[in-house]
Amino acid sequence: MSTLLDKRKFYIGGQWVDPVKANDLEVIDPSNEEPVAVISLGGQADTDAAVAAAKAAFPAWSQIGKAERLAYAEKIAEIYQSRAEDMAWAISHEMGAPQDMALSSQTGAGLFHIQTFITAFKDFEFLRPLGDHAPGTMIAWEPIGVVGLITPWNWPMNQVTLKVIPAIMGGNTCVLKPSEIAPLSSIVFAEILDEAGLPDGVFNLVNGDGAGVGTQLTTHKDVEMISFTGSTRAGIAISRTAADSLKKVVLELGGKGANIVFADADEKAVIRGAKHCFNNSGQSCNAPTRMLVERSIYDSAVETAARVAEETAVATAHQPGKHIGPVVSKQQWDKIQDLIQKGIDEGARLVAGGPGLPEGVNRGYFVRPTVFADVRNDMTVAQQEIFGPVLSILPFDSEEEAVEIANDTPYGLTNYVQSQDGERRNRVARQLRAGMIEMNGEARGAGSAFGGVKASGRAREGGVMGLEEFMDSKFISGWD
Ligand code: NAD
Repeated sequence: MSTLLDKRKFYIGGQWVDPVKANDLEVIDPSNEEPVAVISLGGQADTDAAVAAAKAAFPAWSQIGKAERLAYAEKIAEIYQSRAEDMAWAISHEMGAPQDMALSSQTGAGLFHIQTFITAFKDFEFLRPLGDHAPGTMIAWEPIGVVGLITPWNWPMNQVTLKVIPAIMGGNTCVLKPSEIAPLSSIVFAEILDEAGLPDGVFNLVNGDGAGVGTQLTTHKDVEMISFTGSTRAGIAISRTAADSLKKVVLELGGKGANIVFADADEKAVIRGAKHCFNNSGQSCNAPTRMLVERSIYDSAVETAARVAEETAVATAHQPGKHIGPVVSKQQWDKIQDLIQKGIDEGARLVAGGPGLPEGVNRGYFVRPTVFADVRNDMTVAQQEIFGPVLSILPFDSEEEAVEIANDTPYGLTNYVQSQDGERRNRVARQLRAGMIEMNGEARGAGSAFGGVKASGRAREGGVMGLEEFMDSKFISGWD
């Protein structure tokens, strides 16, 4: 225990405080299965203290001016950059992102969101006329109150910044409960906010699990809104528990992205799609995990994707390079192995990877990048979110069939279209039921909003729409 980092304190009311009752949990490094730190799982008294601190801070914070809020956000961005190495260390030790990727993509995503919110906030009109169709009417965008923020482990700073920054810039005060599996980066983030000098109680951090602090936040009478990112299963549970107090609930849930590759797309589209699927060891809600390929290029696409899988190096998070790391936990590793086996049992054709640890590896939660061909969309590997580096490839014969297969899933987060034919791309994009469509590798723009439909949730995060999620719109008529 003595060599472990002691991270048991919570950040409540501007102070680092001990939990009311000790309840320790070790944070396990997925690269070597060794504990790296010990945290506390909070209880009702800790949650109550954090919510009370946020409630006390709300009246003053909600009234401060736009320039002052902006100055805090700019200060946070500055300190965040100076702590980037610490942040990357925390992320790679808590969830296994390789150190270079933990710094560039994982920590970088957090900075990107802080800066994007700053830009969106500068132009944000808190009081706007409704429009020429409704003369004399205004919409005022106002803070909601105390908000509870619950995040997962897979892109920890991406998700924390997508919630905390718009919450406080929107004039709310908040309590963050990050994933108990990956809590270390949020502790670094709390240190950053502390150094930025936010007034006491505007931001609070309580570690805990879903059954404890998570549920306590979603049922708390003084919490007005819950913003949640995580599994569809937990999203449904939260919708239920939050219903009794009619909280606003924002849900960002799972995905099973289809990547439609038409015959006129080049080989690069297939390579890009496979790499994207394996990125972050497949632990991304928007990963293009189902590649739908037009029949005439199907065989060559399967070959290319299998080659990408074989060329994807898998190694410890604690060495430099472009490899992928382990998956986050033993539980996830077991689940992924079961699903790979199910793919084989249900008759999908294994063309790369497969069950078991990569060759030469005997500890750590490493998964072989795996490709299944000849997948039918009713197979488990095509329907269930695997959250590991596993790609399913399905053939299609017509545009209509591709759209039908893509939409035949409970999820609706991100879909992808690859074709040189612009008209076809646009037509297909309009028919896909998803919150986001990315075509020909065009990444989402800075001001875009992230979110899904169906079992992927109902909300938008990031940019202007992400700011608006954290405010109530008040309609005023008779405005002079
Ligand atoms: P999870 O649902 O198990 O946990 C997410 C968070 O919710 C954790 O902090 C957990 O402690 C908490 N929690 C769990 N049950 C709860 C409950 N009943 N009440 C309150 N809080 C509860 O998810 P995970 O395994 O940490 O993350 C992986 C999932 O997240 C995947 O399904 C992935 O697709 C999804 N995800 C979605 C997005 C998106 O933006 N749509 C982004 C990233 C991850």
